[in-house]
Amino acid sequence: MSSTDYKKMYQKIFKVMGELTPLKADCGKLCAGACCKGDSDTGMRLFPFEETCLPVTYLKTGDRLVVCDGSCNRNERPLACRIFPFFPTIDDNGKVFVEPDFRAKRLCPLLTHSEEILFDKRFFKAVKRVGKILAKDEKCREFLRKSTEEIDTYAEFLGE
Ligand code: SF4
Ligand code: SF4
Repeated sequence: MSSTDYKKMYQKIFKVMGELTPLKADCGKLCAGACCKGDSDTGMRLFPFEETCLPVTYLKTGDRLVVCDGSCNRNERPLACRIFPFFPTIDDNGKVFVEPDFRAKRLCPLLTHSEEILFDKRFFKAVKRVGKILAKDEKCREFLRKSTEEIDTYAEFLGE
């Protein structure tokens, strides 16, 4: 059995992310908040045991997806929303990287226009730290591995 205190771990992770977002400006203005439309196509996948520190206001669907109504208390949003559209990927040696989450390519202009955008480096540092915290736990490490495989498959399919 895992000895990780998940509630404590996610609280730490949320603290690391703080108010950081990929840009210093509000990227929602680029796309009218496309990732916050609150429909079932854009559900957020929870990280392992993340439900231990999420409010119950999210509607749960299959495959550990939660769907919001398109608005939220930002301090209580899931980790997937905090790091979107990037992800802490992991290699076979357990090394953590931060990569575009190509699963979001259809939705997010930050991925389609990445060359023209000035990103906030502090955001990427924070996502990497988050990945390292997650990688210490076996279940989370496995989740990072599976997600990395999925992202790689999308990247290959999209010719990235
Ligand atoms: S879809 Fe991308 S650009 Fe639009 S609000 Fe979400 S993260 Fe920002
Ligand atoms: S929980 Fe908040 S940040 Fe996440 S998709 Fe819903 S409105 Fe957007």
